[in-house]
Amino acid sequence: MLMLLKHMVFGIGNLPRILFGTGRLTDPAVRKAIVEGGVEYPVTVDVDLCMGCGLCSRICPMKCIEMKPLPEKIMLRENQYKDIYPEIESARCMFCFQCHDNCPVYTVHNKAAAIHPRGVRKTGIKAQDLFKADAGGATNA
Ligand code: SF4
Ligand code: SF4
Repeated sequence: MLMLLKHMVFGIGNLPRILFGTGRLTDPAVRKAIVEGGVEYPVTVDVDLCMGCGLCSRICPMKCIEMKPLPEKIMLRENQYKDIYPEIESARCMFCFQCHDNCPVYTVHNKAAAIHPRGVRKTGIKAQDLFKADAGGATNA
């Protein structure tokens, strides 16, 4: 009985929206961007920080991370190079966060992950910096 009363009280406040469609207006600028296909997805990979290991691409259950070639390879340390980086096809992502949580930058080097499906926070750190002797120490997630 109490629940029914509660629903009635809150439901009355909702009536104008149901009957007259009030409060439903989408921001015109957002609407225009959607219609024209101009909605930009956030940057999801910090290409500088990424080591190019490809783990995120292999672990993604939706197979929506593709490794792309870098214009030129970057030496991380002697005999170890980075020549690929991941790109997320955001429209297919189901936000399981497997890529982020298993990124070795995050898990091994204790730095912000180089990949985040909802938008990466750039750190200014380059992957090659991680292999330098003074690169230790936790920063963030
Ligand atoms: S984002 Fe992380 S897991 Fe993916 S390739 Fe770069 S370093 Fe590897
Ligand atoms: S969060 Fe998205 S991109 Fe990352 S592993 Fe999951 S489905 Fe793939």
